[in-house]
Amino acid sequence: MKNEETQLTDVYGVNVFNDAIMRQRLPKNIFKAFVKTRQGQVDFTVATADVIANAMKDWAIEKGATHYCHWFQPMTGLTAEKHDSFISPTPDGKTVLEFSGKELIKGEPDASSFPSGGLRATFEARGYTAWDCTSPVFIKGKTLYIPCAFCSYTGEALDKKTPLLRSMEALSNQAVRVLRVLGATNVQHVDTTLGAEQEYFLVDQSFFGKRLDLVLAGRTLFGAPSPRGQEMEDHYFGTLHERVAAYMNDVNTELWKLGVSSKTQHNEVSPAQYELAPLFATVNVATDHNQLTMETLQKVALRHGFVCLLHEKPFAGVNGSGKHNNWSLLTDTGNNLLEPGTTPHDNMIFLVFLCAVVRAVDKYAKLLRASVANPGNEHRLGANEAPPAIVSVFLGDQLTDIFEQLAAGGAKSSQKGGELKLGSSTLPPLPKDTTDRNRTSPFAFTGNKFEFRMVGSSQSTAGPNFVLNTIVADVLKEIADELEKSKNVTVDAQKLLKKIAKDHARIIFNGDNYREEWVQEAKKRGLPNIRSTVESIETIMDKEHVDVLKRHNVLSKHELHARTDILLENYSKSINIEAGVTVSIAKRQILPVCVEYCARLAASAGVVADSGVSCKAIQKSLEKAAKCVDELDGAIEALETLLAKAQNIDKPHLQARAFRDDVIPAMQAVRSAADALETIVDADTWPLPTYAEMLFLR
Ligand code: ADP
Ligand code: MG
Repeated sequence: MKNEETQLTDVYGVNVFNDAIMRQRLPKNIFKAFVKTRQGQVDFTVATADVIANAMKDWAIEKGATHYCHWFQPMTGLTAEKHDSFISPTPDGKTVLEFSGKELIKGEPDASSFPSGGLRATFEARGYTAWDCTSPVFIKGKTLYIPCAFCSYTGEALDKKTPLLRSMEALSNQAVRVLRVLGATNVQHVDTTLGAEQEYFLVDQSFFGKRLDLVLAGRTLFGAPSPRGQEMEDHYFGTLHERVAAYMNDVNTELWKLGVSSKTQHNEVSPAQYELAPLFATVNVATDHNQLTMETLQKVALRHGFVCLLHEKPFAGVNGSGKHNNWSLLTDTGNNLLEPGTTPHDNMIFLVFLCAVVRAVDKYAKLLRASVANPGNEHRLGANEAPPAIVSVFLGDQLTDIFEQLAAGGAKSSQKGGELKLGSSTLPPLPKDTTDRNRTSPFAFTGNKFEFRMVGSSQSTAGPNFVLNTIVADVLKEIADELEKSKNVTVDAQKLLKKIAKDHARIIFNGDNYREEWVQEAKKRGLPNIRSTVESIETIMDKEHVDVLKRHNVLSKHELHARTDILLENYSKSINIEAGVTVSIAKRQILPVCVEYCARLAASAGVVADSGVSCKAIQKSLEKAAKCVDELDGAIEALETLLAKAQNIDKPHLQARAFRDDVIPAMQAVRSAADALETIVDADTWPLPTYAEMLFLR
């Protein structure tokens, strides 16, 4: 008999039109044709698409679906969907359910209301969605979801997915060239793999509802620190609270049904912070799955009386949230190209790919940094928290040693991990890894993959990964160009690795990335340290960035420019919302309570004085509170003035700078006056749930 809870194997993928279902439901030749199309070997024919669409429709209707939608990822970083029902009226006034190949392959949503960064004028409304057959179709609610790319009438990418797909192809092409020349002639295709660890906060819904800042801006804009924060180091990996565990179970079941392989879950460093990690998948599918994960985390939270916060920095003073981007390369013959094996020093393919990544990260550090630049991440990167804004690579002891050997002319040996004995005969000896971990590194080699830790928790993984894919593809291209004309590949490959190891030694850093010493050291090494989001976005249009993205057909200059404008506008809009909320809360919630508090103190002071008793404390409290209230009032006025000024600037980069340089400090001034008042005014009248309540009460 089955448990009350449905068995995992029964629910996993039940709502996905996956290969197993397709094999069952499609004629053999159609399935074969589909697989070839998915591998990019042949184009779609309408006839094939018609058969597939019909099978999808029958399957979806059996599962209770009534609608289908093209599901895409516009430049908002979120997903978009417009639902159409399967009904098709017949002349006799009835209806049949239909879904054609044409409807499957192409949609025509109005593109004018999505950010286009000037690629489209508002009146030029036509946009297309195109079925991305590399990511499986699924059912959610009563709708069949078709993952799609989204472009303008003129063919320019208006979404996150298109450049990602283009970059995967670029990387595969160049990686295959390198593999061929190194003798791995059987590889036809190389996939990028991604496992995105998702961090998030849970806050009780009752608190959330009372905080306009959380509701509208996703983070707290006020709040004195809780007397207890994360200093006890007792939350990370701590026992799951029952209510949280029930929530996580529910999240997992929902995700498993959608074929998202949610695997790891635990408490994170900050109180009320958690993590979910799936098993890795092809980067395109993993990106879709991460969108579904973020959506599911938020949706299911409401069922449990929580709200899930995906913002990079919901609370000041405790850790923010990231999305660790575990990235590797997998051949169609099943080999992970970043797997060192037991003797990495003589694993030429591994060494070439490792060095290619190191060179790419050093050469294009600014572009990589810009791929994670959003308003929320500004509170993490370079703000004394994981990780810094300086891009560096952690290789660990064994690989750093090999890297140094390469620089000296050739790698001859690999350090071994050995065995750990724990001093008790009842404990097993442990095989020891060849290297320790380093949690402070922004780009760390972790055994058989790189973990890019700068990605923000709310970000789509498409951006960072299309950049990573493209810059690595570019270095692989250089290597392939060089080695393809070589008469002695072994000798020339060694020379190439030697040059890379020498030229890029500066990007390797295995120490503590949080220390001030590193900032100084990195400066000496000439590594960029771009802490501000605006400044980082402004580097995107640097010539070498435009060139590299163009060279691999990932984005044209025009498309890149549009994206840069969207990012700057998004920055300004986000800070504009935060500033508006700051004014509203400060003026309409905090100030009135504080004024009333002063009035109460003044009245009490009068009563006490009338009674002939002298009480200095009352007078002192009143003076202190009145001073803070004046400060708050002045800060609000200053913010309002600077906000109005910033709102009137029309050039995106000038406006973004005004928001950063004028509005943000003015918001901070309002906050610090208000937070000081929070520590004075009686708790019962304070209008906002406190940090202590939100972080510790479940
Ligand atoms: P950590 O200890 O770093 O927190 P987790 O287990 O939380 O590790 O997450 C590691 C992630 O890396 C998982 O999503 C896992 O599937 C992913 N991963 C493992 N191997 C690869 C690979 N070859 N390519 C991409 N991602 C990988
Ligand atoms: Mg993890």
